[in-house]
Amino acid sequence: MPTVETVNGPVDLEELGVTLIHEHFRATDEALRFQFPHLYDETAEWESAISDAHAVKGHGVRTLVEPSAMFLHRDAAFSKRVADETGLNVILATGIYTYDHLPQPLLTRNEDQIAEIFVHDIENGIQGTGIKAAFIKCAADEPGVTPNIEKVHRAAARASRQTGRPIMAHSHPKSGTGLDQMKIFDDEGVDAAKVQVAHTGDTDDLDYIERLLDTGCWIGMDRYGLDVFLPTEQRQATVLALLENGHADRMFLSQDWASTLDWFAPELAEEIKPAMAPNWSMTFLFEQVIPELKERGMTDEQLDQMMVENPKRWLA
Ligand SMILES: [Zn+2]
Repeated sequence: MPTVETVNGPVDLEELGVTLIHEHFRATDEALRFQFPHLYDETAEWESAISDAHAVKGHGVRTLVEPSAMFLHRDAAFSKRVADETGLNVILATGIYTYDHLPQPLLTRNEDQIAEIFVHDIENGIQGTGIKAAFIKCAADEPGVTPNIEKVHRAAARASRQTGRPIMAHSHPKSGTGLDQMKIFDDEGVDAAKVQVAHTGDTDDLDYIERLLDTGCWIGMDRYGLDVFLPTEQRQATVLALLENGHADRMFLSQDWASTLDWFAPELAEEIKPAMAPNWSMTFLFEQVIPELKERGMTDEQLDQMMVENPKRWLA
């Protein structure tokens, strides 16, 4: 039986059930938190993560993929505690979440040496826990595929080729990074069917999305609620058009929610949320997005394909 690594060891793929492919139980700055821990409230963070985990379980979710990596405060022990407390399967990544910056120790390492670091997390486990990474995360954003970003992508590709593990590539569709990212993976000999181009749903440019799909990759329609990048109505219209064009077998629905996010100081966060992401949560998909997609023609089979079958196939 094929299995996938979770925070509680290998789980049979058939047991994953309804899966959220891209959510975070906590996303904070590692350096700030290490140096200035008084800015952070561990108890509130824990409560927020647990409350979200219970809420998604209440909507039938059985598995949550948490693509936190270096620079996004990946914390395997924290994720395991959430899983143990709630019974959810939680699946973790290795990798680096950066739009360009790399610390000196990684500037002086080459692609193969960075790949080796990723392979360690896949084969030996993350942060000394024995929890194994199930996939590899990398990112390109507004600055595009800079030399540092290319290096991380090539490292991710080599770790994937060595271990067979899939890749999730954060993308910035408005700068068209997805196609550049896929070119690097292709150049490194990675099977496109192993790659998920995250945040593709931040655009409604169907021509760009179709060209991306033509490469053979998966796409994440995974930021529902983040109106600041694309309002819900445009996300819905795009997903419906792609369903009509027969792409249910290549898409994921998720929200990229973070139960705790420190990008904005607390007072500012409260002030800007109504404009940037009024409905954003870990359950928005179930409360509004999915019911509305169904009303507008999405079938139960298509939903099952995106929430149950595709996660299994990508992770396998
Ligand atoms: Zn994310």
